[in-house]
Amino acid sequence: MKALITGGAGFIGSHLADSFANQGHQVTILDNLSTGSLSNLSQVSDMVNFVEGDIRDNYLVENLIQNVDVVFHLAAAVGVQTIMNHTVESVSTNFSGSEIVIKAALKYGKRIILASTSEIYGKNSKQPLVETDDRVVGNPQKIRWTYADAKALEEAVAFSLFLTNGLRMTILRFFNTVGPRQTGRYGMVLPIFASRALKNEEIPIHGNGDQSRVFCHVFDVVKAIHLVTFNDATIGEVYNVGGLDEITMNHLAHKIIKQTNSASNICFIPYSQAYPSGYEDMQRRVPDISKIQSHLGWEPTYSIDSIIRDVIEAQKI
Ligand code: NAD
Repeated sequence: MKALITGGAGFIGSHLADSFANQGHQVTILDNLSTGSLSNLSQVSDMVNFVEGDIRDNYLVENLIQNVDVVFHLAAAVGVQTIMNHTVESVSTNFSGSEIVIKAALKYGKRIILASTSEIYGKNSKQPLVETDDRVVGNPQKIRWTYADAKALEEAVAFSLFLTNGLRMTILRFFNTVGPRQTGRYGMVLPIFASRALKNEEIPIHGNGDQSRVFCHVFDVVKAIHLVTFNDATIGEVYNVGGLDEITMNHLAHKIIKQTNSASNICFIPYSQAYPSGYEDMQRRVPDISKIQSHLGWEPTYSIDSIIRDVIEAQKI
């Protein structure tokens, strides 16, 4: 099979590239290296075709998509810091860029898998979240939600083209995917906590630390992508992809300190100091994964302790 991975030099995309290339598939990657890195591809550099470019380059995108069987669309502006500090550019990539990729897949009749996000649900307080739950987001001046808004429009465009034009698409909503190669540079909590703990530096918790999340190992996420790709019954469907163990930020920090034998202390930073105005957070975000479990038999296999262990080991390198 020939696959195009947009965002393939990024965290999740590079693990997907490793896995597909190692199974003998022909992998092409389109990435502008804005948050991704060629070092993420070091294990498969002689097995994949890397193209440096932007998903908003319609000509380039069409040329690449013409020659593949399946498109994995993962390129996006991600991370709270990126969204808050480069809002216009982020919306442009996440909506306009995605529209170009989706329309090219439709034009050439290609299967496309879209990386969406639990951010779609916004601050909906109903937990756990199922695929049909409502979006609850703040007003447009709360800049954080522009990421969710752009991703929601991306989903809506793809779903609409599935209904009207038969676009062979599947949407995967990832909930806090973590693991080796994820960088803390753009505000991702686990690599930041692990790196601070290893250096015996203060671990910064935003707010009071009672907010919780559910983490999923990137290897489990890649397995979910595989299952969806090779099952045409998933066309037109949306799936939550997330882990099992809900954990508060306080508990997470303490676990990481313990697993690294660190002398780090925890400090609490008010949201108003941690972010520019226009940021708001949600207390919990818990996935209901029963749909993907029952349709595809997919189960997350990594516990929170094994996820933390892998992230710590990766930070040591
Ligand atoms: P990442 O930043 O590591 O990967 C994104 C990649 O896209 C990077 O390599 C970046 O250089 C590339 N990119 C950005 N803008 C581009 C553009 N205009 N043209 C070409 N390439 C561009 O992030 P990730 O965590 O691997 O995320 C991959 C996908 O999964 C994204 O679509 C993201 O929204 C989604 N997602 C991730 C998570 C998570 O927890 N990691 C959660 C929900 C959704």
